[in-house]
Amino acid sequence: MRIDVVSIFPEYLAPLELSLIGKARQDGLLELNVHDLRTFTTDKHRTVDDTPYGGGAGMVMKPEPWAQALESVAAAREGSKPVLIVPSPAGEKFNQALAYELAEEEQLVFACGRYEGIDERVIDWAQEHFTVRPVSLGDYVLNGGEVAVLAMVEAIGRLLPGVVGNPESLVEESHSDGLLEYPVYTKPSAWREHDVPPILLSGNHGKIAQWRRHEQFRRTAERRPDLMEGFDAGVLSRADRTAL
Ligand code: SAM
Repeated sequence: MRIDVVSIFPEYLAPLELSLIGKARQDGLLELNVHDLRTFTTDKHRTVDDTPYGGGAGMVMKPEPWAQALESVAAAREGSKPVLIVPSPAGEKFNQALAYELAEEEQLVFACGRYEGIDERVIDWAQEHFTVRPVSLGDYVLNGGEVAVLAMVEAIGRLLPGVVGNPESLVEESHSDGLLEYPVYTKPSAWREHDVPPILLSGNHGKIAQWRRHEQFRRTAERRPDLMEGFDAGVLSRADRTAL
């Protein structure tokens, strides 16, 4: 996969050189390029923003530097358009299902807004060249798109083949099947008067699987009842019914 990120703060994306994503880049599993929007300006002050039409507080990002930047990063491909993700509190909410969907793409381009956001005409114009998806990290407002991109690239990147050493760990994670993950423990089995649940020390793999499934349902119902509402009871296995 190729990822291009356009930002006025390219240094903000430096953490993507670290850990699993950094290693995936080194190993050639992921090509990731960060571009400075200001290099696509033409005035001596490298201006990327201006006052909003209609008045109001704050500044708006000018359209032309964005068009120049996006044209330069869109990889020419026959037939299909790259996906342009525009982080925005007014976008569809990012979740694990969207991460899986985006992990299938050949190229993702991220446009990091700042100030009051990007001139809306960029979004309209970009539809000709990209599949445009405004995406929100959650119902709150950040100062810029960079933090949202860090989160999305990490969530998407770890789903690419070979990035996470043991692919099994992706299967059992929270949100992979609509439920939260069960609690996990390591040694020592007794710690500060808190013991590991005895079933996990029993060696009975069937019982352990059943306990974990039960904990997934219990935890999800307690912490995220909204997920339980969306859970399709029709797909519950016999083991799930026992766990419930
Ligand atoms: N005026 C905008 C609004 O109310 O929708 C908020 C602009 S915000 C200060 C600046 C930039 O931060 C946005 O253009 C977007 O790129 C990013 N941003 C802010 N909150 C976000 C969120 N919840 N998810 C994704 N990106 C966000």
